[in-house]
Amino acid sequence: MKRSISGLALALLGGFLLCGQVLAADATQKIIRNGEQAAVKGSPEIFTGNVRIEPLYPANNAMVSSGGQVTFEPGARSNWHTHPVGQVLIVTSGVGRVGEWGKPVQEIRPGDVIICPVGVKHWHGAAPNSHMTHISICEEKEPSKVVEWLEKVTDEQYEGR
Ligand code: MN
Repeated sequence: MKRSISGLALALLGGFLLCGQVLAADATQKIIRNGEQAAVKGSPEIFTGNVRIEPLYPANNAMVSSGGQVTFEPGARSNWHTHPVGQVLIVTSGVGRVGEWGKPVQEIRPGDVIICPVGVKHWHGAAPNSHMTHISICEEKEPSKVVEWLEKVTDEQYEGR
């Protein structure tokens, strides 16, 4: 019994030491409060239709990813584009569409996770009769460089024709 108690104490101590090491790298947690960061309207040069971009978190310290929440109104979509380090999309509400160059348009729904590989030309947006909101996570190749914007997605491309 005595032996198992000292074993537990050792395990706990080990746990604290491990926590100490993890915390030493970045001493204080930061909470970015909901509503603290202003939303921006998607520029008509890189989006078709109404799009709202809400920043979630910037790249910081050793982390080179940044996140944002993007809401597309029905029919709205991004231009064609590529990502220098890829992108992950997590659909949180509505019904949307994603297109990849030379491939059929696909419908996306809440809970779907879309992984866009490095340099693959694609677009994302809402379905014609529904809004779509996704969280977007990108990594930076160089500071603030997460996307290369290309031409607009035509109605024919959006409809998959
Ligand atoms: Mn993308």
